[in-house]
Amino acid sequence: MTKLKIGIIGAGIQGVCNALFLQKKGFHVTLFDRDEPGNAASYGNAGHFSPYASVPLNRPDVVTDVPAMLMSSRGPLALKWNYVYKMLPWFFRFLRNCNNNNMMHTAKYMHQILDLALPAFDELFDEVDISGLIENNGILYVWNEQNLKSRDLEIKIRNDLGVKQQIVNKKEIHDLEPNLKPFYHGGVFYDYARHARNPKKILIKLYENFISKGGKFLKLNIKDLNFDENKPVLRSESQRFTFDKIIIACGAFSKKLTDQLHEKIPLDTERGYHIHFKDYDHLISRPIVYSNRGFGITPMEQGLRVVGTVEFGGLENPLSKNRIKNLILNAKEMLDGLPEHQDEWLGFRPTLPDFLPVIGPSKNYENVYYCFGHHHLGWTLGAISGKIISKMISEENTNLNLEPYSSLRFA
Ligand SMILES: Cc1cc2nc3c(=O)[nH]c(=O)nc-3n(C[C@H](O)[C@H](O)[C@H](O)COP(=O)(O)OP(=O)(O)OC[C@H]3O[C@@H](n4cnc5c(N)ncnc54)[C@H](O)[C@@H]3O)c2cc1C
Repeated sequence: MTKLKIGIIGAGIQGVCNALFLQKKGFHVTLFDRDEPGNAASYGNAGHFSPYASVPLNRPDVVTDVPAMLMSSRGPLALKWNYVYKMLPWFFRFLRNCNNNNMMHTAKYMHQILDLALPAFDELFDEVDISGLIENNGILYVWNEQNLKSRDLEIKIRNDLGVKQQIVNKKEIHDLEPNLKPFYHGGVFYDYARHARNPKKILIKLYENFISKGGKFLKLNIKDLNFDENKPVLRSESQRFTFDKIIIACGAFSKKLTDQLHEKIPLDTERGYHIHFKDYDHLISRPIVYSNRGFGITPMEQGLRVVGTVEFGGLENPLSKNRIKNLILNAKEMLDGLPEHQDEWLGFRPTLPDFLPVIGPSKNYENVYYCFGHHHLGWTLGAISGKIISKMISEENTNLNLEPYSSLRFA
């Protein structure tokens, strides 16, 4: 069993963490990516390790707020109108999940894995030198006086789940972040949360550890999947590889491959953006999220990263200048004295309409596993998802209920 050959498609945080946990169990692992490792969503995210973030976006209150959010150029949501028609089935499924029962189901099963996220990363970080790349100053969320019922709901759900949270008043927010302009009404602080000062560098440290222990990486675009008897066969433009088992970990691009496996998994993308204010990371001590606006600021090596918003528009549409403007104006509402921005980046969150990831075996092919769809939390959930898949493949008990993450829920 331990000598099985495993192919992983996708070298984002999910693929790399899967590779390391499988390697720890003695499997021969080959990682494929059409690009260098860590250049997609895992590159440009907000860098939050946020084990507290169980409250999902499929909520009754979000639905009623959507029209106002879409109308405002400063709001957290935007649409590419040419994609709306294509995304209608996803929207309908999403709406069906915006009730109390489904919201609590998602919250419960996000909490189950988020709660294990940091210890799982520590197992990987024990083997690499990440000094200077991770800070343990917590993560702060602040909000204005609008939509307070949504903030109350979020606090209540976290309390019900037993998530540790510290409600902070204006004075406490000021004491934590004195440079923040006093636009805020209240906030919540997670003192045990961490953040990455450079997500890509952390991913590369993990990837290099995988290679140094005998792992293989091939820079190839995997075009299709086939089977030789029961064994999965991966094909690039000019090469063909047979494995005992494969894992699809292509983030928002996974659907191109799962569609070939006769499984209609309704994966789509929530597009997100970032910009940097170079050399302005010293203004704050930790990531701060402006809840009403759906974005945040993170002190990083590249500068102050302003990151977030959700845009529905698929994988092909170009970057929207309006979303970049949204980030600049919102950041200037939080901090004084910001200079010209740099590095306009668009990335693709992989999102299922019930806001749970897909982690587990394929419906139709026993030697194919899925690990994608981690939406806003795929950075945080990299290590624990890899650990779960490695246990599934080595037929070990996880003591977790893994059914909620199965693709069978869409069958
Ligand atoms: C703006 C923004 C902010 C975010 N902030 C946070 C945060 O603070 N905390 C958090 O936990 N999460 C955050 N996320 C979410 C997180 O970044 C993603 O969920 C996570 O990075 C997804 O990782 P992944 O490995 O599944 O996909 P990716 O990182 O997208 O990697 C997929 C890889 O698959 C490769 N690939 C695709 N198709 C093929 C193919 N056919 N053949 C070969 N290779 C292929 C791609 O090249 C890519 O390298 C954020 C996301 C965005 C967009």
